[in-house]
Amino acid sequence: MSDKKIYQGFNSALIHGGIYGDPLTGAVNVPIYQTSTFEQENIGLGVKWEYSRTGNPTRAALEALIAELEHGQRGLAFGSGMAAITAVLSLFKSGDRILTSSNIYGGTFRVLDKVFKNFGITYENVDTSDAAAFEKAITPEVKAVLVESPANPLLTVTDLKQVAEIAHRHGLIAITDNTFMTPYLQKPLDFGFDIVVHSATKYLGGHSDLVAGLVVTKDKDLGDRLAFIQNSTGGVLGPFDSFLLIRGIRTLAVRMDRHVANAEKAAAWLSKNPEVSKVYYPGLKDFPGYEVNARQAKNGGAMMSFELTPDHDIKTFFSGLKLIALAESLGGVESLVCHPATMTHAAIPYEIRQRIGITDTLIRLSIGIEDIDDLLADLKQAIERSRI
Ligand SMILES: *Cc1c(COP(=O)(O)O)cnc(C)c1O
Repeated sequence: MSDKKIYQGFNSALIHGGIYGDPLTGAVNVPIYQTSTFEQENIGLGVKWEYSRTGNPTRAALEALIAELEHGQRGLAFGSGMAAITAVLSLFKSGDRILTSSNIYGGTFRVLDKVFKNFGITYENVDTSDAAAFEKAITPEVKAVLVESPANPLLTVTDLKQVAEIAHRHGLIAITDNTFMTPYLQKPLDFGFDIVVHSATKYLGGHSDLVAGLVVTKDKDLGDRLAFIQNSTGGVLGPFDSFLLIRGIRTLAVRMDRHVANAEKAAAWLSKNPEVSKVYYPGLKDFPGYEVNARQAKNGGAMMSFELTPDHDIKTFFSGLKLIALAESLGGVESLVCHPATMTHAAIPYEIRQRIGITDTLIRLSIGIEDIDDLLADLKQAIERSRI
């Protein structure tokens, strides 16, 4: 079916990209091939489908879709964002060293610090928003750089083109976690990155109803190596969740437009609020990474963090919210708030959190697609209630 398709735009790719429909029946949606195995006519025929860990048609449709959306050669779907990141880190071997952005997702920090370190793979957190600092940290052992831009949870922006150039000059594989932006707002492979990973649990799924991870590679060779790792280690996404994720991706652009419109209003409101001491949002003109982000992304996205002035009790603030739920995760249609120090970033030791600016009073907000006036009213009453 796909060779008949004619379209140019990203919105059309969201709907018609990858493998569209089912040639067998004409169904406009790829069926859920809920099967572990496939009957073979005879031995030695080299069949396309043999076993669902190796490949499944529903998962394959999702994998083709995300590869197309990220402008890559190969997409791979995993049972979670961490399974995707683990598969990518499995490209490396004992003695290799990986540089990461200084504020990255807590789980990525944890898997490097507590799992891969045991296999002799070391890491260092560097400020990738400072090109000179990043380049200085490159030693002969360094084999890759893992960047988040904007990074979690302080929204620090890294110049993707610059980091990819430096990485390649030193023979590193450039990897980025594009969870916060999605390919609708930012396409890192276009800036020279080799691998994009996603927690598809977030905006791509978009409805807080599944856990999934995706990887896209710029070239076929890395894609083949990662497909081998995916099949060997087995952290694949099941057919039903693959179907749900395709369904989520279809509406990515319309959801993101509302997320971002709400986020821009919320960030402006928070910045003007005298009870708020600091707002971290890449869409604010006075945010340090504003210009770099504007060059490489469509806009500032819908994630932000902020701090209340010291005369507020943060626990009263969290418990006082009525519409916005206190929960891990982000990117769903509902607005969520979280406390990075005890939740998403608790795996990072206190001293390191302090050094990189994840204070005990930092509040992270994932703006949903509700009516913005309702969200602002909820924030307002919770802030007022939390005054000491
Ligand atoms: C949530 C998240 C992850 C981990 O993904 P899971 O699907 O929860 O395993 C990785 N990176 C970022 C930026 C995330 O927000």
